[in-house]
Amino acid sequence: HAKRLGGDRQEVYRPILRPLGKNVVDIESDLREAIKKETLGVFFQPIIRLEDQSIAGFEVLARWTHPKRGKIAPSDFIPVAEQSSLINELGTYMLDKGAQQLSAWQREFPMTKPLFVSINMSSRQLLKHDLINEVKAVLSRSSLATGTLKLELTESLVMSNPEYSAKVLERLRALGAGLSLDDFGTGHSSLSYLQRFPFDTIKIDQSFVKADGKATRPVLLRSIVAMGHDLGMSVVAEGAENEADALELYQLGCQYAQGFFFGLPMPGAEATKLLRSIPAETETEAEPS
Ligand code: C2E
Ligand code: MG
Ligand code: MG
Ligand code: MG
Repeated sequence: HAKRLGGDRQEVYRPILRPLGKNVVDIESDLREAIKKETLGVFFQPIIRLEDQSIAGFEVLARWTHPKRGKIAPSDFIPVAEQSSLINELGTYMLDKGAQQLSAWQREFPMTKPLFVSINMSSRQLLKHDLINEVKAVLSRSSLATGTLKLELTESLVMSNPEYSAKVLERLRALGAGLSLDDFGTGHSSLSYLQRFPFDTIKIDQSFVKADGKATRPVLLRSIVAMGHDLGMSVVAEGAENEADALELYQLGCQYAQGFFFGLPMPGAEATKLLRSIPAETETEAEPS
């Protein structure tokens, strides 16, 4: 049966004490320092295959404990990083750490369907950075199974410069990177993105799953899932917080889910322990029938 992975700790963030405006410069230089010293946390949240509740992969999420201010949420420090080129350094750091961890996992846990990691991208990275060469370099030094290094992009990100984004995404895909459309359904004219850009995965925004008790929830979820599958895409639902969410998603035909019910974002070492605690794939194929 489904178990909440990664312990019972609640993730509680203290809001930044004073308005960010005044402290942006401090925050920015402290964050730069954290990346340089590699104290910025790289956490992994399991993405579950609903049919058998196995771990399909992990989303990579940045975590920061400031030496004086304590925990600061990504929703507070990512926008600060995005105001400067620091987001490129943060992006490179998360990409390197995520790919390194995935490479170690693929060696230790060979699976018929290899584990994946999914890394969040900011628009600045896509538009102003030499992302193609960076991803190429990461892929060539980490020998990952094709498509298992996934990049998560949002609608607003690709739409800020659709023509250029389409080209970059085509090239990333040609390199063998997976492409996930994050927070699906929260932007405008979402459907056009699906034909315009080469995404292989839709991540349904957690607001659709959270609409618990609303009559629209099963209708919208079922429609998005069916559309994704008809387009040959994988569909991941975000924000599965309890067993009822997980069950409903499964019954609606959704293949993958992510959320506090299945596991909180956790450090790589903890995720490794979790993977070790799960019995290896049985070698039934090798047995005489
Ligand atoms: P996101 O990419 O949509 O990530 C999912 C967010 O939902 C994460 O928040 C995750 O902790 C949270 N979450 C997961 N399961 C549940 C659940 O069951 N219930 C609820 N209520 N929330 C759940 P987090 O880690 O605070 O990150 C927030 C956003 O910050 C991310 O949204 C992403 O846009 C951004 N972010 C985080 N790490 C990075 C990074 O390394 N690079 C970039 N560019 N952005 C990042
Ligand atoms: Mg994401
Ligand atoms: Mg998301
Ligand atoms: Mg989000």
